[in-house]
Amino acid sequence: MKRREIIKLLSAAPLIGGAAGSILPKTALGSAGAAGTIAKRDLIKELGLRTFINAAGTYTTMTASLMHDEVIEAINSSSQEFVMYDDVQDRVGERIAEICHSEAAMVTAGCWSALVLGTAGVLTGMDRKKVAQLPRVEDFDKNEVIVQKGHNHGYIHALTNTGIKPVEIERRADLENAINSKTALMYFLNESAPHGMILHEEWLSVAKKHNIPTIIDIAADIPPVENLWKYNDMGFDLVCISGGKALRGPQSAGLLLGKKELIAAARLSAPPGGGNIGRGMKVNKEEILGMYAALDKYVRQDHDKEWKMWEDRVTVIENAAKKVDGVTTAVTVPPIANHTPSLSISWDIGRVNISRQELQERLRMGTPSIEVMGDGDHTIKLTVFMLKDGQDKIVGNRIQEELLRASTS
Ligand SMILES: *Cc1c(COP(=O)(O)O)cnc(C)c1O
Repeated sequence: MKRREIIKLLSAAPLIGGAAGSILPKTALGSAGAAGTIAKRDLIKELGLRTFINAAGTYTTMTASLMHDEVIEAINSSSQEFVMYDDVQDRVGERIAEICHSEAAMVTAGCWSALVLGTAGVLTGMDRKKVAQLPRVEDFDKNEVIVQKGHNHGYIHALTNTGIKPVEIERRADLENAINSKTALMYFLNESAPHGMILHEEWLSVAKKHNIPTIIDIAADIPPVENLWKYNDMGFDLVCISGGKALRGPQSAGLLLGKKELIAAARLSAPPGGGNIGRGMKVNKEEILGMYAALDKYVRQDHDKEWKMWEDRVTVIENAAKKVDGVTTAVTVPPIANHTPSLSISWDIGRVNISRQELQERLRMGTPSIEVMGDGDHTIKLTVFMLKDGQDKIVGNRIQEELLRASTS
C-alpha cells in the first residue's frame, strides 16, 4: 500500500467510524523499510523456508552468517542513491587497506573471486589486451602457478579459472626447480599449512629471491582479528578473505588485499568493466559498503569479551549434554580456519542408542530446528559463534532431550 493511500485511509477513518488499525492491514503500519513506504513482508514465511538455529558454523550451504544491524543499515541507506561504481571501490578500498595494513584493497564477490581476480591481475598487469584474452593464456610469457601438494585441492579451481597451469611441488628443492621463466605466481592455502612441507616464511623467502608474486587464501581464518593484517605484514603480495563468514558481512562479499599495482590490475578483470573473466563477479555498491561496515565493526569490537561469551555458551551446551549417562564431551579450538571454541558430543552406543545421522535429523526436524555438524557415527560437532543470545540454552536442552530419549540405561 502506498503512503498516500494509507494517509487517505487514516484521514477517512474517523468518518467511517472505525479505528484506523482495524481497516488497515496490520503490516501496512509496521516498521517501514528504508523507503519508508512499503509494507513489511516475511518472505521466509511466505515461501515456506525452514529457518534454524545455526550451531554448525559459517557454512556456505547454510547461508554462512547473519549480518549485523550496522551492515543492514549500510546496505539500506546506500541503496537510495546513485554513485559511481569505481568511486565506491576506491573509497572503500582505501579504508579497508588502512585497516588491514595493505597498500590497496578491493571488495570482491567472496574470497573465491578474490582468488580469481588476484590471479588475473598478476597475469595481465595493466595490459587490457591480456585482460580480454583471459582465460586463454597459453601464449602468455608467464602462465604457471606453483602450489604445494598438500594445498592443491578444490580451491585451486579459483586460480585455474584464469587459464593458469598449476604446478604441484612438495619439497623446497622441488620448489626451486619448478620456478622458471613461466612462473607467474606462488599460491598458499593457509588452512592447509600443516599439510604442506613449506611454511609461510620459507615460501615467501623463496618467492622474494626469485621475484615471484605470492597469493594466500585465508578465507575462514578470521578470527583472530590480527589475521586481517598478519599476512600482509608478513609479505604476501595478495591476501584473500571471505566477507560473509565470521566477519559477518554480506555472504556474497570478500576482500582482496595487496600491492597497489596488483589490485589496480585485478580491478581490470572485475566489474564495472566488461569483456573480462570477472564481469559475472559483481558486488553491488550496497554490498561493498556493507562489507566495509562489517569490517569496521569487527575490528572495533571487544574480541576477548566475545571469546568469553563463546566459552560460556559452549559450557551451557556441554553441561546439558553431559547430564545424560554415557555421553562424553570435548572442547577444542581449531588452530586455523574457524578458530572458535568447538564442542564435540559423543555417546556410548550401548547406553544411548541413536546414530549420529538420526540425532542430526531429529534436531533438524524439531522445534525450533537446529543444525549441527557430524563426525563419525556417534559424535556431533557444534560451534557457537553463529548463535543468537539465548540459543545456547535451547540447543543444550534439545540435545539433552534427544539423547535422553535414546537412552537405554
Ligand atoms: C569459504 C572458503 C572459500 C570461498 O570463500 P567465499 O567467500 O565463499 O567465496 C575459499 N577458500 C577457503 C579456504 C574457504 O574456506
